Amino acid sequence: MTGECDFKVTLLGTGVPIPSPDRFGPATLVEAGDQKLLIDAGRGAAIRLYQLDIPIGRIDALLLTHYHSDHTSGIPDVWLTGWLQSHFGTRRTPFHVIGPVGAKTLMENLERAYALDIKIRIEDEKLEPSGIAVSVDEFERDGVVYEKNGVKVIAFEVNHGDVIKPAYGYRIEYGGRSVVISGDTRFHPNVIEYGKGADLLIHEVAAARPELMKEAFIQRIIGHHTTPQEAGRVFSQAKPKLAVYTHLVLLASEGIPPVTLGELISETRRTYDGPLEVGEDLMSLEITDKVAIKRLAR
Ligand SMILES: [Zn+2]
Ligand SMILES: [Zn+2]
Repeated sequence: MTGECDFKVTLLGTGVPIPSPDRFGPATLVEAGDQKLLIDAGRGAAIRLYQLDIPIGRIDALLLTHYHSDHTSGIPDVWLTGWLQSHFGTRRTPFHVIGPVGAKTLMENLERAYALDIKIRIEDEKLEPSGIAVSVDEFERDGVVYEKNGVKVIAFEVNHGDVIKPAYGYRIEYGGRSVVISGDTRFHPNVIEYGKGADLLIHEVAAARPELMKEAFIQRIIGHHTTPQEAGRVFSQAKPKLAVYTHLVLLASEGIPPVTLGELISETRRTYDGPLEVGEDLMSLEITDKVAIKRLAR
């Protein structure tokens, strides 16, 4: 296959709630054919799109995995800045949001919160109201949630903890190839089922040193996520062409440092010996008959 790759995933933010300049909030861009989908919009998602020279208003749909604020705090920026007339904005059609139940309430309340800005810009800058309108599709079970121009997105439920509901992952299919994104979850067989034979499996991960695991609050956090050994079990059974970590929950305390990326990999190697990469912000994964990793300088 030659020419421009038409199925590409870029990790916009590989971080967690920590306001780190190195790892922005969770957000993943999927470009398939003429479609551009954003999976979650954590802190800084609009900045990362700008770095890629992609007009923020060019996003066809925002798909949400769950409602923890680290995955949603970038929404107003993507929505509002994407409406501006400048080259970095340019949206003229409604902002399309797809998510489990809760998306409508979230977007209605954002419309209320920013009502004055919207009114001012319509009057002052003569911006088209159609570009700031919001169109929300909610779902409450596994199934196809988006289908356009050969791109199909299937949502599947995951388990992010007993009270952190709803929580979903996504499988994106295009041209006979597929990308699976776990969302935030504990070890969950759905990720294996939907991830079977995927070209690319992007999984969250959480780790802490054994000394730190004695703390109850650390155990609670780890209990909401997937450990490297558990993620390795998912990868071993799903057998993707490439497994990539994102959403790195690497816990630390004053006296106990976080595990290193090398240790993260060696822990995973106890249960998985296939292709594995630790994601970083602005890492692109080009999917053809193989998955090529490209890094963009920040
Ligand atoms: Zn998260
Ligand atoms: Zn979460």
